[in-house]
Amino acid sequence: MNNRFQTNFEYACNDRKEVLVIKQKDIDRLRVEPGKKIHLKDFNTEWDKLDKYEEAGETALKAQLNLLLAKNLTDLTKAQQLLYVDDRYSVLIVFQAMDAAGKDSTIKHVMSGVNPQGCQVYSFKKPSLEDAGHNFLWRYAKCLPERGRIGIFNRSYYEDVLVVKVHPELLQNLPEGKVNKAFWQGRYDDINAFEQHLHRNGTIILKFFLNLSKHEQKKRFLERIDKPEKNWKLTEADLAERDYWQDYMVAYEEAINATSTEWAPWYIVPADNKRVTRALVAETITSTLKSLELNYPKVSKEQADFLINAREKLVLDS
Ligand code: ATP
Ligand code: MG
Repeated sequence: MNNRFQTNFEYACNDRKEVLVIKQKDIDRLRVEPGKKIHLKDFNTEWDKLDKYEEAGETALKAQLNLLLAKNLTDLTKAQQLLYVDDRYSVLIVFQAMDAAGKDSTIKHVMSGVNPQGCQVYSFKKPSLEDAGHNFLWRYAKCLPERGRIGIFNRSYYEDVLVVKVHPELLQNLPEGKVNKAFWQGRYDDINAFEQHLHRNGTIILKFFLNLSKHEQKKRFLERIDKPEKNWKLTEADLAERDYWQDYMVAYEEAINATSTEWAPWYIVPADNKRVTRALVAETITSTLKSLELNYPKVSKEQADFLINAREKLVLDS
């Protein structure tokens, strides 16, 4: 292996294979501290650790990131089983991003190892007439994960302070009142209260903003045009919303600053390299689940006696 590559990355020895390691401090750097005002422009859309990407060699790096993801998927599978058995917590994972940032593929890869019975993905599009007839949190509240399960929101109630803030004409039939700063603050407060309610009731909430650069979005859109098998992916809406890029960045920044809380933190994940995104998201979810110290329930004296008797009976059984 290239020496420069070796010196530029942190490794741990695992089954004699060298594995690129994401440390807790790497994850902490993505986390938006509650009360701290961030500027999105200060967040790199590429991963700082990949600064020496060129010298490392693309193939070597891809292999390392794949290994890292695979390790996390194994841990995640175990953690999910414990989450189910432990039966105290549920996990809500929110993904928000600009188009083509890789929400779908991150969800597909990161959740590929988990038991489908313990995990549900909801993709939220434009609200239906019935949705629009209720308060803005209604349709999301119906899809929350039950205890022991992981729920994934591919877009979420944050759309109601993002796309709706960029296009306020989407707001319909609200009581009298101006759609001003106080209106949006009211929505942030509602979201914080909603998430705090969930947290108090045992829901662990993780929110990921996949931070894509405008330049990389252009590249991915062009690929959708140039590769026939990707043609179906590009829509007029994708191009139209790109024209509002700056408005979206402002809306994201304001929403993240107003709603990154102790009980529901935001993580701003570099999204210009899909493998990096997947590895960082998987690591964040896994490390959060591990920190819950989930355990198999202790076997009671009665259950232990039952197991001994059951074993004897089964061994003697024809
Ligand atoms: P893809 O990666 O396939 O493009 P997507 O999540 O962008 O996935 P689309 O069907 O392209 O899915 O777009 C869904 C659209 O619905 C987005 O433009 C989003 O902003 C919009 N949407 C989601 N929630 C709301 C909401 N509450 N109010 C208005 N529009 C919404
Ligand atoms: Mg889209």
